[in-house]
Amino acid sequence: MSFMDNPQWLEPARGAAAGAPVPPGRVTLLGAGPGDPDLLTVKAARVLREASLVLYDHLVGEQVLDLVPASAECIYVGKESSRHTLPQEAIIDLMCRLARSGRPLVRLKGGDCYVFGRGGEEALGLAQAGIPFEVVPGITAAQGAGACAGIPLTHRDHAGTLVLATGHLRGDNDTALDWPLLARARQTVVFYMGVATLPTICAQLMAHGMPADTPAAIVERATLPGQRCLTGTLASLPGVAATEAVQAPALVIVGGVVALQPALARGMACAG
Ligand code: SAH
Repeated sequence: MSFMDNPQWLEPARGAAAGAPVPPGRVTLLGAGPGDPDLLTVKAARVLREASLVLYDHLVGEQVLDLVPASAECIYVGKESSRHTLPQEAIIDLMCRLARSGRPLVRLKGGDCYVFGRGGEEALGLAQAGIPFEVVPGITAAQGAGACAGIPLTHRDHAGTLVLATGHLRGDNDTALDWPLLARARQTVVFYMGVATLPTICAQLMAHGMPADTPAAIVERATLPGQRCLTGTLASLPGVAATEAVQAPALVIVGGVVALQPALARGMACAG
């Protein structure tokens, strides 16, 4: 259902005297974690159980939404990278208008609100509009994928630096990322939104000096039913991902820590 079909969401909260100014409702920017509802924080679960109005994104798991009371209104605002249901500015505008109606609003986003996904832009929009908000952190996809697929994101023998990078490269501008920095030794690089650009990512890292046999993995649907972890090298991973028809959401993890995955996955219940 579209929010446009429901103008009552923008009316003053029940109980507000007609015409009297209503103080804005508080907005909670809530990180839903990588998908498995058991990976919500205790605080996130409590806020969801008490929610009456929720704006949520594409990557929020259905089971997470099941925690919201049936009486609550849930508004889907989309945000797949190629198919925004609402433009970002319209989402911020809607959040401000809903908050000004006086109701508390939960803005539910996948993973952590401040790791990609534009939570920072939404928080700035609220701050500029003078609307009170709080941010509840969530487990970001890189942490969920690392833990559940068997890839420690740092390890004394392999990586002393962890970089979270976007794989969403705009157009042909492959220089948008600092490739020399990303290609450094002894670090783990996790690319979000990197399924479509995986061949470019691997080619750029090799072109900037990363050895072609550097271990690399793609973790699809991390922490969710059907999770898959496919491993290879910088040279082989694009072919593996194409053969296996990997779909978003997935993360690309590059670095020596990926070599530990087979041994760790053998001992784990949830590794794909
Ligand atoms: N704020 C989110 C990231 C939003 S960007 C977070 O902190 O996790 C969206 C990207 O996150 C997807 O394209 C994918 O790369 C990654 N992602 C989110 N959930 C995922 C999951 N369950 N498994 C693998 N990747 C995931």
